[in-house]
This record gives sequence, structure tokens and C-alpha cells, in this order.
Amino acid sequence: MRTHFLPFHLPSIGDEEIAEVVEVLRSGWLTTGPRVHAFEDAFARYVEIPHAVAVNSCTAALHLALDAIGLSEGDEVLIPTMTFAATAEVVHYFKARPVLIDCEPDTLNIDPDALEPAITSRTRAIIPVHYAGHPCEMARIQEVARRHQLKVVEDAAHALPATYCGKKIGTFGEMACFSFYATKTLCTGEGGMIVTANPEYAETARVLSLHGISKDAWNRYSAEGSWFYEIKRPGFKYNMTDLAAAIGLVQLAKCDRMHIARKRIAEIYNEAFADHEAIVKPVTRPEVEHAWHLYPIRLAVERLRITRAQFISIMRERKIGTSVHFIPLHLHPFYRDQYRYRQQDFPNALNAYERLVSLPIYPAMTEQDATDVASTVVDIIRSNLR
Ligand SMILES: *Cc1c(COP(=O)(O)O)cnc(C)c1O
Repeated sequence: MRTHFLPFHLPSIGDEEIAEVVEVLRSGWLTTGPRVHAFEDAFARYVEIPHAVAVNSCTAALHLALDAIGLSEGDEVLIPTMTFAATAEVVHYFKARPVLIDCEPDTLNIDPDALEPAITSRTRAIIPVHYAGHPCEMARIQEVARRHQLKVVEDAAHALPATYCGKKIGTFGEMACFSFYATKTLCTGEGGMIVTANPEYAETARVLSLHGISKDAWNRYSAEGSWFYEIKRPGFKYNMTDLAAAIGLVQLAKCDRMHIARKRIAEIYNEAFADHEAIVKPVTRPEVEHAWHLYPIRLAVERLRITRAQFISIMRERKIGTSVHFIPLHLHPFYRDQYRYRQQDFPNALNAYERLVSLPIYPAMTEQDATDVASTVVDIIRSNLR
């Protein structure tokens, strides 16, 4: 039995991030400035894509990306039901409709086979979510998008640094959006990034991210800047601060190391759960590098004497925090009532949801922590088999 509680997540913030933030605080420049520009350049290089625009959340990034592709009222956007609130709510910002799609039974990513039957004359875009950090079937999604002239905007909130067929996630859609929320694989507290190969999309996103004006404060108030600016369109207040970017630069430099640490924990779990029929492990397809933002197991509840909720509370009693990703959107009151979805409309997502439990997976965990989690899970399952 553990003596200390192991939280579901802890960010990996070290002395270096703290020192960089202190330096920004002392520099006299707190808002969007040199750190943000340096973070954008470094991030674009890391993802191997020409343009990156930093914003204050992935939700803001998705909003600007949908604006850049020209989404308008009455349009439809295909999104997975197995996702977080943000993926769908940004579609509502345009008075457009998110059309929910079921997931593949193994990866829990959007099911490419379910896309075409959902396409109508109003469909404009697809937002694939790389669930838990496992890349979606991008080849098939892009093929459907090409055939029906749809734009693909990747919700890559879980997917830094994942790859699909040897190419970085973030490079497959017209645009991709990353999250630097406190629990994500790179964290700046709050933050997000839009990446794209299209300079016009990048310019639109950049201008809209700061009131629709042609220059940011660095280009107006610094010694080299000038006072003149123009409002191109009414925009938003979505710019990233230099404080956040200073954390982001340090985090990006250790992104590969943090990925290796999460991968090691996934290996410990995979090995421990290898021959337990009542525990369904997450899959990793051969053509992908998994980002391992989450490690979601599925409990074979029909073989157990306890429910998923009981499992989670026993884990908590044994001093281990867990979570559930996600309650599918179609089960939430708003989506259920607004679009009259029934539980059984998305059988794969419903089936997964009733069994899902996300285990802790983050670089601040020790191998002993991971072993504790694995043996606690196995012990609870063993002692509660039917
Ligand atoms: C976290 C998350 C977001 C939103 O990210 P924020 O930076 O908090 O706005 C969007 N999509 C998915 C799938 C997420 O998990």
C-alpha cells in the first residue's frame, strides 16, 4: 500500500522553467513579444511545418482555424463523439452544427468508415481528434476529405509528439491545433498553437488572435516598432503571453525526453496487463508513434463483481488518482437534447465509455509509481473476478 497519494497528473515544471519565467518578469516585457515569437519558430521547426501561431488555448486555436477555412452559419463539421467539449463547442461559435461520429472499437479514434454516410451538402470540414495521443487513420480521412472537398483541421491536443507513417502529427490537416493546458504533454499552464503549411491561414489566425489588428504590441511598443496599425476585421483576444512562451520554450526542449519517460510507463503497464483478460489495454498500430498523453484501459465489466465507478473509488482508497476520458458528447444533456441523439446511436463509444479508466502517465512518476499503479490495478481486478 502506498504511503502518499499519486495524483492522476502532475506537470513537469523544473527549476529551468521557473528561472525563465523570473527572467521574463524582470525583463519588463510580459505580453506577446520575443519569447512568443521564439516559441512559435521553435515549435514550427519541431513539428516540421512552415507556420506556427501561438494563442492562449487549444480552444482558441480551433476557433481561429475554423474561421480561417471560412466556416459559416448552417455548415456541418464531422467530429468524434469521443472527445472533449472544446472540439464541438468551437463549431457552435459559428452557428454551425457539429455532426457526431462513432469511434473505431480499438483506437477509439473517429471511425473513417462512418464519415461518408454522415456527409451532406452542408458538410465543410472534419476535425479528427488523435485520442490519447494515438494518431487517427489520416490516409483514409484525407481520402474522404479530398473526395468531398472537405477541410481537415486536426485537434492535436493529445498528440505532441506523435507520428503517423513517419510524419509528425500536425502536418496532415489544413491546420492543426495543439494544447498546452496543465495536463497536456507540453504545458504552459494555459496555451495553444495553430500550425499550418498555408501562409494565408497563418496570417488570418495571427491577425484574428489579437483584435484583428495588423501588428502585435511588440511591433508597436518596442524600440523598433511604430505606432501605426490597422484593424482588418473584428478579432479576438487570444494572444499568448511571453510568460507562457518562456515555459513553453523550456518544455519543448525537453519534449522528446518527456515522451520517452511516458513511453516507459506505458511499457510497464503493457507488460503488467499482458495476460489479464479482464483488462483491455490501449492499442498501438504499427504505423504510428503514440504520444502517450493518456493510458486508458477498459475494464471487462461483465467479468467483474464491481462497477467501473467502484473500481475508481477503490483505486482512490489505495491512494492512486485516475480519470475517465471521455464521457462521449452525445451523452451530455446539451448534445442529447439539441440534436436528439440516443445512447445507442454510437455503440462503440457507448461500449468504451462504460469501461474506460485513464491511469496516471507523466514524466514526474517514478518506475516504482508505475509498478504500484499496475500491481494495484491487477490486484483489484483479480480479487473481484466473477
Ligand atoms: C484539452 C483539449 C482541448 C482544449 O484544450 P485547451 O488548451 O484547454 O483549450 C481540445 N481538445 C481536446 C481533445 C482536449 O483534450
